[in-house]
Amino acid sequence: MTGFWLALAVMSMSVMAQVCAQTASSRPIQWHSEPLQGALVMGEAKNLAKVQINGLQVPLTSEGQFVFGIGKDDTEPVVIEAQWLDGHTAKTTLLPIQREFEVQSIDGLDQAMVTPPKDTLARIKDDARQARQARQIVSDLDGFREAFIWPVKGPITGVYGSQRILNGEPRAPHWGIDIAAPTGTPVVSPASGRVVLVHEDMYFSGGTLFVDHGHGVMSAFLHMDRIDVTEGQQVPQGASLGTVGATGRATGPHLDWRVSWRNVRVDAGLLVPKQ
Ligand SMILES: [Zn+2]
Repeated sequence: MTGFWLALAVMSMSVMAQVCAQTASSRPIQWHSEPLQGALVMGEAKNLAKVQINGLQVPLTSEGQFVFGIGKDDTEPVVIEAQWLDGHTAKTTLLPIQREFEVQSIDGLDQAMVTPPKDTLARIKDDARQARQARQIVSDLDGFREAFIWPVKGPITGVYGSQRILNGEPRAPHWGIDIAAPTGTPVVSPASGRVVLVHEDMYFSGGTLFVDHGHGVMSAFLHMDRIDVTEGQQVPQGASLGTVGATGRATGPHLDWRVSWRNVRVDAGLLVPKQ
């Protein structure tokens, strides 16, 4: 008698354990990129209701995709809290994979560009404000899901995260990938999106263009010679945006392409295939 009830209890416990294991394994979050420092990480799961990244609720596409960025110096685990439509919840942590970043010295720059004259500070501040404002945009566009293509091809002369030493003075890390190409080379949109900022002449970055790829993912293109799109314009992947130039603080014609997720700068070079 006792043995019978014990057997039944054990059996129902093992059935329950199976059900739980099945529930957990039938709801994996599929990750589309490694959690490297500087990575844009896309996750995906079926029937998701809500996702929070370190406590911040992020939008979901209709197919249950979401995205976030890992900063260059992030070492703390990223906490992902997911809730499914039936109320099931799961908490996952991703530990950033550490990378090493380069140190790059650039000499012979016009000293006015390294230490800007006082009368340009208001202009520089306003440039920064416009760029910051553009990076705040979190739209429901979904171009970030596409396999990014190079906006222009050419020798890579600067990479993400490198510490810059300009005329011997240490400066903030470089956030973009610098692609050298002759002035006038066409620049295309690496993924679909909407043009959210066009500035013909920022002090440091010259002809500057921002394209919103959705969910807080933003491309910026610097030093452009010509910008052929206007604010509010929708651009498919591969659409012509303008041309490479050497406007602003540039030692020669190149495209500086930067990608951010909200205020987090990520590495555009991780989004595109090897050239
Ligand atoms: Zn650059």
